[in-house]
Amino acid sequence: MNGYFDYNATTPLLPVAQEAWIEASAKHWYNASGLYREGGFTNRKLNEARERLGELLGCEAERIVFTSGATESNNALFYSLAQLAKPESTVLSSAIEHPSVREPLRSHFANRIEHLVTLPSGQVDLDSLAEKLKTPHRALVTMMAANNECGALQPWREMLALCKSMDIPFHTDASQWIGKLPAHELGECDYITGSGHKFGGPKGVGFLVMKEETETLHFMRGGPQEGGRRAGTENYPSVEAMVTALECLTPQLDNIAANQTNYRQQFIAALRKEWSEVRVIAEQGECLWNTIMFVTPRQDNRKWLARLSQRGFQVSNGSACSALKDGSSTVLAALGASVEEMRQVLRVSGGWNTELSDWMALADAMKDVLNDFDAS
Ligand code: PLP
Repeated sequence: MNGYFDYNATTPLLPVAQEAWIEASAKHWYNASGLYREGGFTNRKLNEARERLGELLGCEAERIVFTSGATESNNALFYSLAQLAKPESTVLSSAIEHPSVREPLRSHFANRIEHLVTLPSGQVDLDSLAEKLKTPHRALVTMMAANNECGALQPWREMLALCKSMDIPFHTDASQWIGKLPAHELGECDYITGSGHKFGGPKGVGFLVMKEETETLHFMRGGPQEGGRRAGTENYPSVEAMVTALECLTPQLDNIAANQTNYRQQFIAALRKEWSEVRVIAEQGECLWNTIMFVTPRQDNRKWLARLSQRGFQVSNGSACSALKDGSSTVLAALGASVEEMRQVLRVSGGWNTELSDWMALADAMKDVLNDFDAS
């Protein structure tokens, strides 16, 4: 049995990615910026990996900057855009972004950020975007492609089209989309954030796709690597492993999505058989095939986590924990959850190889935990 249901937090390294990492580390561990022959080979391999990633994302390889992950990509982008933005420029975003978007945005654009309306379906309201784009001095629209908490898929293609029609750059943090859904159209976006460990690659590697091949990025200073856009010795083995992981998953995605969507439905049905009233957050909207966020019938979610962990299942309380600590609850409140519900929310996120029997075992374990609570 595979009891791991926290794939939105991080994923195990795919065997092909591990092999790729080991081979790259053995043969091409040299400094890719070194001026000797071995450095040149490493640099060539790095740029080949960039080309391969460009093909998967549908963008020019030269637009890709390799980073340490999505958090760095988001921080780097907003830092750099803020340096260039006019004082009157504003940014449109949403209340359900990951903290690595929300916090640097707040730090660099402070009161110059406006949030789009999030509908109960978990999707952002396109009408509110169309309306807000009419206001002058919009420097950027940033909207995640898929939400890490409830899995809501955002209408990024429509948002991009609206932004393009107004000549306003569009960024998407696609960390939860890439590796789960086809990514070859994402390259149309002006800026894209991605993270290797969300799709079977190693931790500590990711990327930022920039609008222009020549556009500068000033966040990590101290060396001319990545075309002068990101200082620090290039991590070719991790880049190779990340790109290999995505190449491995991409052709399988349609099949996986079809099977897993069915498993997800069966899991929800199994929960409902026990508790007819179970509330799935953002249930009406389009959703990632692996993610369900729901309100448990009773007890604090930390108790659920502990009891499920004792039974061999790893699930998450998503952002509920941090939300309650500072008294606010941006993401879950925007998704329509009450403070009471936030304490009882669980996020379950499966993986590419999660079997129906794993989902059903989790549903059984939840029933068992509930009986435990009722008995105590
Ligand atoms: N953005 C989103 C949407 C995420 O889900 C995460 C991780 O949870 C991140 C950014 C941060 O990713 P990383 O660990 O690569 O910095």
